[in-house]
Amino acid sequence: MTTLKTPKGILLIVSGAAGTGKGTVNGMLLRDYPNFAFSVSATTRAPRPGEIDGREYHFLTREQFEEQIKNDGVIEYTEYCGNYYGTLKSELRKLEEGKNLILEIETDGAMNVKRLFPDSVAVFILPPDYDTLKSRLVNRGTNTPEDIERRMKRALEEFALVKDYDYVVVNEDGKADEAAQAIYDIVIGEQHKVSRSEGAIEKIFFENK
Ligand code: 5GP
Repeated sequence: MTTLKTPKGILLIVSGAAGTGKGTVNGMLLRDYPNFAFSVSATTRAPRPGEIDGREYHFLTREQFEEQIKNDGVIEYTEYCGNYYGTLKSELRKLEEGKNLILEIETDGAMNVKRLFPDSVAVFILPPDYDTLKSRLVNRGTNTPEDIERRMKRALEEFALVKDYDYVVVNEDGKADEAAQAIYDIVIGEQHKVSRSEGAIEKIFFENK
């Protein structure tokens, strides 16, 4: 099948409150499709067991993070549950390599990125219901009870913002692969948008005539 290739990858914002399983879903996309890349954010929160600096996040001190802000090193940042999180400008290079770049960021950052890059695609991942969300957070075992309460409260606030996104995907229990497939299909659909192939049709049919 011929597609009119866009020169750059798609900037794919994926949001979902803690416990929606967005990490698992994004992990599947990255594992299965070599043309997807992950934007490694900067944060001041402490690494969780198993997290590696430069892979899940660039773990910075508050001073280092504030230095990045001052030097225009982040395209957006926010404070979430007491810590800074931000998207590093340097990560956008992956788009130039033609990769679809996943920004796994919360709602404030997502809306800032949409304003800066109107052709970005914003996907909201929802859990199937409230109880599933809570049990996923509790079972993770890496959050304190206070942190779980804070994150649950924040989750409810974030769900109200789903209307500002382009797409919504429900991550059913045990079916993260289906959610990943849905996001992949969204990206394929986006790649075929006429608005993304601007110039390509002219190039094929009208230039070099
Ligand atoms: P966590 O501490 O669970 O890894 O992340 C907390 C929240 O911060 C999640 O909703 C995550 O998507 C979001 N987040 C991670 N990186 C960024 C970022 O660079 N910018 C923004 N705005 N949010 C981020």
